[in-house]
Amino acid sequence: MFNKVLHKLKTVTPWRIFWLSVLLSEFLTETIVTLLSILIHGRITYDYLIVGSITALFVSIIVAAILVLLIKELRKNERTLNELNRRLFDLSIRDDLTDVYNRRHFYEKLEEEIKRSERYGTVLSLIMLDIDYFKHYNDTHGHQAGDSVLRDVALLLRNNVREQDLVARYGGEEFAIILPETGKQVAGKLAERIRGCLSTQTFHFKETLQSGKLTISLGVATFPEDAKSLNDLVETADRALYKAKEKGRNRVALVGET
Ligand code: GH3
Ligand code: MG
Ligand code: MG
Repeated sequence: MFNKVLHKLKTVTPWRIFWLSVLLSEFLTETIVTLLSILIHGRITYDYLIVGSITALFVSIIVAAILVLLIKELRKNERTLNELNRRLFDLSIRDDLTDVYNRRHFYEKLEEEIKRSERYGTVLSLIMLDIDYFKHYNDTHGHQAGDSVLRDVALLLRNNVREQDLVARYGGEEFAIILPETGKQVAGKLAERIRGCLSTQTFHFKETLQSGKLTISLGVATFPEDAKSLNDLVETADRALYKAKEKGRNRVALVGET
């Protein structure tokens, strides 16, 4: 009940609350003083009326001020709580090393997109990509340098996709990109562009790498033509990725191409 009243009050401006509470407490105090005057003297006396008015004025201003301060504090707390909730939510859906979305959020979004695609009869594509020979890089230059590469790759991916696409770290050095309302050919071109960008990007110790550049392999699958379910789509894109690895790495493989 008290919470309900406070909740209602939060929607009213502080000045309205102030004047409302002044009026209310003025009325209540006046009534009490008048009743006291009648009880004690059998009538309303002037001095009671004057004392009553002054008391009512002070009481009402104090009550109103306390109420306004309370409401302001409540609003501030609510804003802080909302901000904390937002940050907490953001933390729960992001990968803490690379700041792209985490695997759990990837699955949630992919499920949403598949449902949307089924409802509206649209297509969507999925790119799975994996850094080539990353174990060797880690073993040679250490985990810290490896982590820095993972962050750079994630940033490059984010900078090279469209606003509606979603980049996630699928695990280790494997990333996934959901491309809503995108067919295989467009997805393939985007994958190729990402591959090209990455091979020209500078990374720590790049010169020490076998080919003189850091490369990735990518697999592209499209829903519903290549898969009938979420898991099916992920598996199919992953298979295409490993086909790209088998063919020599640093390339894009589309499901269905020979
Ligand atoms: P391939 O070309 O076949 O993908 O070879 P690869 O060496 O990249 O693949 P492999 O699966 O053998 O090794 C993956 C390596 O990724 C192993 C591990 O050292 C590294 N790795 C996974 N997660 C992280 C991480 O969070 N940070 C760092 N620095 N390295 C990681
Ligand atoms: Mg790898
Ligand atoms: Mg891997």
